Amino acid sequence: MAASHSVLELPPSMETVSVSLIDTGARLDLPAEQFMTPEIPGYDRLAVPSYSFLITHPSGKRLLFDLSLRKDFQNLAPPFRDICTDPGSGWKVYSPRSVSDILVENGIPLDEINAIIWSHYHFDHIGDPSLFPSTTDLVVGPTFISRFAPGYPEKPDAPVRSSDWRGRSLREMDFDQHPEKVTIGRFKAIDWFGDGSFYLLHTPGHTPEHMCGLARVQPDSFILMGADCAHHPGEFRPTKQSPIPEIIQPSPLPSHPQYGTVCPGHIFAQLGYKPGSTDTPFFIPAPDYTHDFDECCRSVNGIAEFDASDQVLVLIAHDHTMLPIFKGEEDGGVGWFFPRRSLDKWREAELKKKGRWLFLEDFEVPSTES
Ligand SMILES: [Zn+2]
Repeated sequence: MAASHSVLELPPSMETVSVSLIDTGARLDLPAEQFMTPEIPGYDRLAVPSYSFLITHPSGKRLLFDLSLRKDFQNLAPPFRDICTDPGSGWKVYSPRSVSDILVENGIPLDEINAIIWSHYHFDHIGDPSLFPSTTDLVVGPTFISRFAPGYPEKPDAPVRSSDWRGRSLREMDFDQHPEKVTIGRFKAIDWFGDGSFYLLHTPGHTPEHMCGLARVQPDSFILMGADCAHHPGEFRPTKQSPIPEIIQPSPLPSHPQYGTVCPGHIFAQLGYKPGSTDTPFFIPAPDYTHDFDECCRSVNGIAEFDASDQVLVLIAHDHTMLPIFKGEEDGGVGWFFPRRSLDKWREAELKKKGRWLFLEDFEVPSTES
């Protein structure tokens, strides 16, 4: 078979869901070197939000994809409680509100949430499902139950609590046997509603059970909820299909004395994992929080294929680079967070075009003499 770049084929359907982005205000401030490598001058802390997504199907069914952090993180199971509360860990964690508070305040009763989907078991994604009624299912990826059930404290070393699913249905997805199983890009997937409006993708690597969500918000327009497939957009940008342009617009360095107005792409070429390249991602995953490095790279490369498509907005859980736009910096404070508006019209608003290269502002670029 001839080697060629596979063009991502997105499955056709006219059925859509509505996707709202929820920011509880939770912020993490963690050593970047624990999550990605190499170190790039200017970027040493992962100072980031942790997003949750509300997905609403026309039938009225609602899902949450991830729950951000619980407010009372001192009540996490011990492995995560310890690192979040130990001042010597180098981790700073702030979590003022719960997703459930925000839903109720904005007129969405919690019994309307049919299921909470955990992208993976880490503390900054799992929130506190016990705040939801028992009719809300908890959905997890492959191997979760055999590794972690029945949860802490019954299983003393478990990183999740038994109270997270006590009295509710805990559903582990089987991507090989599910009646609605499909393949999208390089990933095993499940067509959640059976109508092509929302898919779960199995994206192992960061953790074995890690899943992403792929929502169709218009017949030809998708949002990929990337969770922790990557921790920085520089792990999946640039690529051969989506190289850094010769002139980057809008400039990611608006206040740089030399490059503020016209920002050439080549000035970033010497930074990162492959110096001299403008079509290879800047970072690779660091070993500390990568369960399986090869699987992780395969998943990140698979996400990069979605990211290279104009039809897909890829949003990882900790994308800090889009925060100013989401908070409304460019539209008089309206922004894109729930309940202000949904993300459904991201394509008309050119959110992807505006945000794609903003992450480059994280890196230090010296002025040259000329
Ligand atoms: Zn995370």
